[in-house]
Amino acid sequence: MTNTRTLLLVCVAVLGALGAAGALQKEYKSGIVWPEPVLVTPGKAYGDPPSDATVLFDGKDLSKWNNGDKWEIKDGYAVVKGSDILTKDSFGDYQLHVEFATPEEVKGNGQGRGNSGVFLANRYEVQVLDSHDNKTYFDGQCGSLYKQTPPMVNVCRKPGEWQTYDIIFTAPRFDESAKEVKVLTPGYVTVIHNGVVVQNHFELQGNTNYDKPAAYVKHPLKQPIRLQNHNNPVKFRNIWIREIKALEGKKPEEKKPE
Ligand code: MG
Repeated sequence: MTNTRTLLLVCVAVLGALGAAGALQKEYKSGIVWPEPVLVTPGKAYGDPPSDATVLFDGKDLSKWNNGDKWEIKDGYAVVKGSDILTKDSFGDYQLHVEFATPEEVKGNGQGRGNSGVFLANRYEVQVLDSHDNKTYFDGQCGSLYKQTPPMVNVCRKPGEWQTYDIIFTAPRFDESAKEVKVLTPGYVTVIHNGVVVQNHFELQGNTNYDKPAAYVKHPLKQPIRLQNHNNPVKFRNIWIREIKALEGKKPEEKKPE
């Protein structure tokens, strides 16, 4: 009993000493002066647009898209029909939310089943496909960067069920003055599919081509977003975007000794 009490007293003493030492620690400060992060009100439920989002499709009309009038709109969603659609506005680096459902009635197989796509900067395709019990080449299945890399895991829901993509895109930077294509920094893509990370800051190798290797083609920083018509009646709803930019801090210049 006495030994236990002694041990407790020693413990209290050691903790007290550590606390006193903590109080003497000096706080590290980087010296960088940061602007205050802007206030954003998040959406009520997962997938709802936050307060600073630009809604590209709210289920009513596709007026923010070229060729949007070609797609069928009903019951709060749009159905792919006859043509790709392209945003009228252009975007640089962004967070993009897209919801889609591959056809409930299963027709075709492989690349011919529930095929569409989200083309970042109008040329880097995040594949949309019915990959529920539907084998195809892995770097062409749902969640792939088409012919560049498969998704890390397959989290496709069943045909007809609504699915989410949350995509974070950093556009590539090119040397504008160079005659040939000179990439200063490549593009990067992160994809969260139904709440699960399937692409983690993947370094794009260039345009996602069907018939030739990926290669960069110089383009302006801001480009439209394209949704693909692959002749399958894939549905889309609730599409919104937030352009993103890292805060820039400033480190005050150190005073030179006189
Ligand atoms: Mg496709």
